[in-house]
Amino acid sequence: MAEKQFPLTQRQLEKIIERYPTPFHIYDERGIRQSIRNLKQAFAWADNFINFFAVKALPNPYILQIIKEKGFGADCSSLPELLLAASVGLTGEDIMFTSNETPAKEYRQAKEMGAIINLDDISHIEYLEQHAGLPDLISFRYNPGPLREGNTIIGNPKDAKYGLTYDQLFQAYALMKQKGVRRFGLHAMIASNELNPQYFVETASMLFDLIIELSRKIGITFSFANLGGGIGIPYRPEQEAFDLAVFSRQLKALYERKIVNNGLHPLKLVMECGRLITGPHGYLVTTALHKKETYKDYIGLDACMTNLMRPALYGAYHHITVLGRDTQPRTHTYDVVGSLCENFDKFAIDRDLPEVSIGDTLIIHDTGAHGHAMGFNYNGKLRSAELLLKENGDIQLIRRAETLADYFSTLDFTGLPSSTRANVEKTLKL
Ligand SMILES: *Cc1c(COP(=O)(O)O)cnc(C)c1O
Repeated sequence: MAEKQFPLTQRQLEKIIERYPTPFHIYDERGIRQSIRNLKQAFAWADNFINFFAVKALPNPYILQIIKEKGFGADCSSLPELLLAASVGLTGEDIMFTSNETPAKEYRQAKEMGAIINLDDISHIEYLEQHAGLPDLISFRYNPGPLREGNTIIGNPKDAKYGLTYDQLFQAYALMKQKGVRRFGLHAMIASNELNPQYFVETASMLFDLIIELSRKIGITFSFANLGGGIGIPYRPEQEAFDLAVFSRQLKALYERKIVNNGLHPLKLVMECGRLITGPHGYLVTTALHKKETYKDYIGLDACMTNLMRPALYGAYHHITVLGRDTQPRTHTYDVVGSLCENFDKFAIDRDLPEVSIGDTLIIHDTGAHGHAMGFNYNGKLRSAELLLKENGDIQLIRRAETLADYFSTLDFTGLPSSTRANVEKTLKL
């Protein structure tokens, strides 16, 4: 069983905790850079390959800065995500706008920034034209419906809300051609957290076939094929990492057979991976506050599902280690839980761990994607800080923890009777 690594020693982490109280997420810059290099290396044969990092996975400008520096772009699906990308200087076709159920002003912003707009439905052509005007490059998201099987996180394509049907794609591109659009892309994202490269090879094969057919029937030229995000990471110690070398080799062969041999080269290949880039390089650091023995044995943490929702949302596995107890045998079985008044609030159920004492530091692994980002304020829980372990070993606070003032900042007390207001303000010491 491969052991899960943590990039700091016990002493180093204890010093960080003295300065930044738990819970917090800490991200390892070195690891993030390595993941970027690995993905680039796998696509070294493909001209102009770019990964648009899915901003939703880790929406923090310090992270996006690293992404940009390494030549990757941003995949956005909302106005704040577009602004986050813009804040580090990503604009134009370094941004893929893969959104759905999109408000007019978000399309306007994407169009103004020159982002590549990836439409989710045929009816959105008219909506986009009406509210923002048509860009000169357009992409559509394909949903193969019953032709493909999905996986558990994203569900079966035919039950998924995303994308156009096969027939609609032909109508959509023909319409865009008729309206004077000259540059085209095609997108599909069918799986999430998928560890089998074959899945992505099949998606590419499906997209290449469609591009051959659409190019011929409609008489248009495709600039890019977007294979989406969804490359998985080994959350469990016994899982193998996604084999990028196998993926690269098979995709290259497929590209030569379908794209080059049909005279469609060059076709730019792009992806929208988030999890693969940052997922394994984030850790939620938390303290055991309570131990409880009833019908089961519980460890109660100072973190809860508002800090990391994946276990409660999908039953997802996140590995847990106890600081300083790496070499001890896992002799105890616990439910590791947070403090929400929600019985779903469990990071692990029946997890074998070394004996945990109150005050121990627990490290929840692989929280670098869809972790802090999914946070919320239920039960008055405040969002935690985010730290960056820099390549040179420095610790940088890249998002401070929320304060009570943040929590109350969206409430306007002026509508309350003055005596009540005075009381509220005194209580909250605003
Ligand atoms: C969520 C999402 C991604 C990123 O998924 P990962 O699992 O983080 O790679 C990419 N594209 C779209 C359209 C998404 O919704």
